[in-house]
Amino acid sequence: MAQSSTETDWVSRFADEVIAEAERRAPGKPVVVASGISPSGPIHLGNLREVMTPHLVADEIRRRGIEVRHLISWDDYDRYRKVPKGIPGVDEETYGQYIGRPLTSVPAPAGSPYATWAEHFKAALIGALDELGVEYDPISQTEQYTSGVYREQVLHAMKHRGDIDAVLDQYRTKQKPGGKKPQQKQADEAELEAAEGSGAAAEDDGSTGEGGYFPYKPYCGECGKDFTKVTSYDDETTEMTYVCTEDEFTETVKLSEFNRGKLVWKVDWPMRWAYEGVIFEPSGVDHSSPGSSFQVGGQIVHIFGGEQPIGPMYAFVGISGMAKMSSSKGGVPTPADALKIMEPQLLRWLYARRRPNQSFKIAFDQEIQRLYDEWDKLEAKVADGSVLPADAAAHTRAVRTAAAELPRTPRPLPYRTLASVVDITAGHDEQTLRILTDLDPSQPLTSLDEVRPRLDRAENWITTQVPADQRTLVREEADAELLSSLDDEGRESLRLLLEGLDSHWSLDGLTTLVYGVPKVMAGLEPDAKPTPELKVAQRTFFALLYRLLVTRETGPRLPTLLLAVGADRVRKLLAV
Ligand SMILES: [Zn+2]
Repeated sequence: MAQSSTETDWVSRFADEVIAEAERRAPGKPVVVASGISPSGPIHLGNLREVMTPHLVADEIRRRGIEVRHLISWDDYDRYRKVPKGIPGVDEETYGQYIGRPLTSVPAPAGSPYATWAEHFKAALIGALDELGVEYDPISQTEQYTSGVYREQVLHAMKHRGDIDAVLDQYRTKQKPGGKKPQQKQADEAELEAAEGSGAAAEDDGSTGEGGYFPYKPYCGECGKDFTKVTSYDDETTEMTYVCTEDEFTETVKLSEFNRGKLVWKVDWPMRWAYEGVIFEPSGVDHSSPGSSFQVGGQIVHIFGGEQPIGPMYAFVGISGMAKMSSSKGGVPTPADALKIMEPQLLRWLYARRRPNQSFKIAFDQEIQRLYDEWDKLEAKVADGSVLPADAAAHTRAVRTAAAELPRTPRPLPYRTLASVVDITAGHDEQTLRILTDLDPSQPLTSLDEVRPRLDRAENWITTQVPADQRTLVREEADAELLSSLDDEGRESLRLLLEGLDSHWSLDGLTTLVYGVPKVMAGLEPDAKPTPELKVAQRTFFALLYRLLVTRETGPRLPTLLLAVGADRVRKLLAV
């Protein structure tokens, strides 16, 4: 180990390993970690792990004062495979004709401010990465290939096509005529499906035709698409002939001067490991099967004189409860969508606290409130020094990078409280400020800016993710029928509540009051320990209050709800 660490989390352990490996492979040079992202459509929130895993490791290395580069390869020279559904400004008929072109040669969705398909979908992720504090060196594969940066590597691959073919052949299973697809083929297809939009280019591993095997695919000089087949290649002159199966266009070019094509994915990836000297690059579990690009790449990389990176397989990241109404971009939640409802610290924390091989879910449903509670508890433990080392490490990685601390909400009031308040006030700023000020009269809020940006995230969550039938609608008029049906006990409990309202007008005070009324009704002291009978009485009382205030059996926490409704209106709705 080159460096020892007092921290005990997975990020530190990988950083130790990566630094040691970098010193062995390329002493004195900056450490290189990499991610690959294909802008073939909206970039799924789950794919953020492809970036966050190396980011966290690179950031730890940077904290130790070691120079490190995090490359993000935009696989924008990949072919446009299919038209994603549900994208505004995109229809099958118009965009179907571009299938087979590089992603940088497909027009952006109609109405986009960007010139190309790739630029359009990259932009959203770039914005999110800025907000998340991810520092990286972007590499456009279109620029690399079309400017001839990989010339030597392309010629090298063609020269050694026999060696490459031999590696790939170990994983090929001969297709039985008329028989079922061999298992490997199925695995490849599963990989392609899983890789869709997941960073790995989805294409085959080169074609074996009459002229032999070729790991290079040109984009057609006539139609610009990759329905091409290399038919011959001369190692001496580098003359390559290809034919387009779409329009039968054919030409012979000198590959030593030709820049309109790319190595097939299973060769392209290991070529880049060698070219960039990548030490660490994780990939999705879909790449772990035998014959997968990561495995095959581990052999092919030697042909380019390189070594395979340390490459943990990361488990999938799921999403819970993304509401249909907000999935306007092809039904796919993106990192930008997550950052609309949660602060970047929280999103960073979700990735930092789980090892890459652990799967987890990012909550768009009610669970986000619990997640925020957990985060606030962690912050409190950090503040009072009772935090465990691994939790402290995850917290540190969430709130700051080697470069800077992420902007934070000055007064981080509980997310669930903020959500309840904006739910009830429907985002009315003045009313929101009044209620939030009442929460803790000893430290009144002077401006909503003190609770931003958390307040804005909570408001976005309420308006975009909470279905209308779960929103809180405070009654305009008292429910006279329900009030008149109450027995003496019910009336007395409401009277006690109203009587204590003014003297308990704060979050803590009202909490004491709503739990206390049933105790008094049962003849108990206000600080009495709850008994099973008391709990039943409290639940019954709370249900009554909800019905009278919001016409439902449940709702936001009662103290918050009462503060939000305001004392006058509470009196109007509960007076018997
Ligand atoms: Zn063509």
